[in-house]
Amino acid sequence: MPILKCGVTGCAYFYDEKCSKSVIKVSGSDALRELDTSCVSFQLRNREASDNYNLEIGTIDDIISENVSVNCEAKTCIYNRNYLCYAKEIKIDGTRAREKHETFCHSFVNR
Ligand code: SF4
Ligand code: SF4
Repeated sequence: MPILKCGVTGCAYFYDEKCSKSVIKVSGSDALRELDTSCVSFQLRNREASDNYNLEIGTIDDIISENVSVNCEAKTCIYNRNYLCYAKEIKIDGTRAREKHETFCHSFVNR
């Protein structure tokens, strides 16, 4: 399970550069570069979604784990083994993202 850092401030699961989910999914089955990947677990922050922390981990005051399990479709990435991410640390990015496809895995490295 990689340590996950996230820069997608508009996501409902974003909290202090971390992700409040325990598992995320990354797409990009034929990815050749970072921008061909996306965090499909992204959800645009809004009033309704602001309670997602509570749904996932109990309360927002609980400790959010730095390690997140990542199911990843980008089999062209060197860190991908059997659709799981085995990188030590990854960064999901997309500062101004309002949609899933505007996010990406900054740590993608093409085989
Ligand atoms: S964009 Fe993905 S990694 Fe970042 S907080 Fe949202 S679900 Fe988590
Ligand atoms: S580093 Fe590679 S295997 Fe891990 S989530 Fe990013 S694209 Fe997928």
